[in-house]
Amino acid sequence: MSGAGRRGGAGPAAFVQPGSVRAGILITGTEVLTGIISDRNGPWLSERLRQTGVDAASIQIVGDRPDDLLAALKFMAAEGMALIVTSGGLGPTADDLTAEVVGRFCGRRMVLDERLQRKIAEILRTMTNRWPALDPQAILASNRKQAVIPEGATVLDPIGTAPGLVVPAPHGAGPTVVVLPGPPRELQPMWERAKDTEAFRAAVAGANVFRMGIVRLFGIPESEIASTLRAAQAAGLSLEALEITTCLRRGEIEVATRYEPAGQPDYDALIDFIASRHADMLFSSDGSTVDDQVASLLHDRRIAVAESCTGGLLAARLTDLPGSSGYFAGGVVAYSNEAKSALLGVGEGLIERRGAVSNDVAEALALGAIGRFQADVGVGVTGIAGPAGGTEEKPVGLVCFSVAVRDGERITRSVRLAGGRVDIRDRATTVALHLLRRVLRGEAQAPGY
Ligand code: ATP
Ligand code: MG
Repeated sequence: MSGAGRRGGAGPAAFVQPGSVRAGILITGTEVLTGIISDRNGPWLSERLRQTGVDAASIQIVGDRPDDLLAALKFMAAEGMALIVTSGGLGPTADDLTAEVVGRFCGRRMVLDERLQRKIAEILRTMTNRWPALDPQAILASNRKQAVIPEGATVLDPIGTAPGLVVPAPHGAGPTVVVLPGPPRELQPMWERAKDTEAFRAAVAGANVFRMGIVRLFGIPESEIASTLRAAQAAGLSLEALEITTCLRRGEIEVATRYEPAGQPDYDALIDFIASRHADMLFSSDGSTVDDQVASLLHDRRIAVAESCTGGLLAARLTDLPGSSGYFAGGVVAYSNEAKSALLGVGEGLIERRGAVSNDVAEALALGAIGRFQADVGVGVTGIAGPAGGTEEKPVGLVCFSVAVRDGERITRSVRLAGGRVDIRDRATTVALHLLRRVLRGEAQAPGY
């Protein structure tokens, strides 16, 4: 990210809105702290909080140590957060301590909730039926712990076996704590339940309602957007009510803007200004991704891919959307020259004459994919992702693309991509999708990438 928090002409600044409700996100789990698994809950919760009009002010990660947990809660309280959302540590084992620590933090006694205990017992009964070898008594005992909750907390019924909690601060002084389980498939639906509770609503009362607009551009450097924002101000546009964040993602520029409903005319004017300066590069102003657009442009035309340096990443992106079975016919990952010839019919002589990384071979791959899968559209990608294998004539980062419609339009390009192996492969899939978008829109001859 860069330019985060740019507010009007004030330069990079904190995201503080007068009177806005601030929240902290506390991720627990030694496996997350050590990097054995990467945190999926922090970013997800941050996004959800923002949609609720709450300012996610910080994300902290701590291990399964009660002292560290408590210290983090105290830090967030001292920072004036009205809300803290925790993830993890709600299971039945000894290292699952979150409920107890939060109870202590909120100054509440721990009490057994009998209704909850019965509920958990019921869930466990159906589980133990599936695993008859387990000792049901031992399981019930260890899970009694999960029914011991801070007094006065609102219980969020389990999605798995762990209940969540909304724990208000005693006497309304200090933050309300929403306690959620760690597994994302449990945390996400439980967040929706938490939002519906009276205790949550009380904590975020007064949160501003925000709108969020996202536009995406492709084929310009990030510095261009920065200068467009300056030009917008110079042209007299009012940006004060807009929180504009620009970031570079997968080779695309994303401009995300947060504003209150009253800022809508300012936002619309800004988007018109960006569109007038970067008409060819602005490909989305409704939040859609290039992947979404390609999927809907394909409709029920069948696509096939032949990939070398991207190793299947393009196929992965094309099949990542629901409904992809309607348009994705198949793909071949062909590294060796023999595979390119045998599986995709690329002429051996052609490879020898032009080299495996060449526009001609990219085109032969695209046509080969169409033939191999009886597809309507084919994409070929061949390049040098490095770190080794580059030459002066064909350096690391050179990637050749071809997109062909059966008996129709065709676009073939080579592009020099910057960065390391991971960047090159990732950006190459993005370039391929943008070329595909252009061909499917009938704009193969248009200027640009
Ligand atoms: P459980 O009852 O499953 O133990 P829990 O609330 O105690 O639930 P944790 O023990 O902290 O949760 O985590 C259980 C598992 O959930 C982790 O091993 C991990 O696979 C997943 N998980 C936990 N936290 C995260 C996170 N922040 N991001 C992604 N996955 C997570
Ligand atoms: Mg656990």
